[in-house]
Amino acid sequence: MTTTDTNYTVVSRHNTSEGVVLWVRCSRCAALRMHLLPAIGGDVALTAGHHEDTCPTCGE
Ligand SMILES: [Zn+2]
Repeated sequence: MTTTDTNYTVVSRHNTSEGVVLWVRCSRCAALRMHLLPAIGGDVALTAGHHEDTCPTCGE
């Protein structure tokens, strides 16, 4: 897991058939992001909702 980023607050965590879904909120711009941790391994980060492009914390 790559939850070493302390700039995020975990909002909720769900176990699904595809893996663990984490909803996190950026502590800087308050953008909600969805992290999918596939059951088969690996790490996929998806962004949901409005994303602040200028945020240096979660802007990619
Ligand atoms: Zn942000």
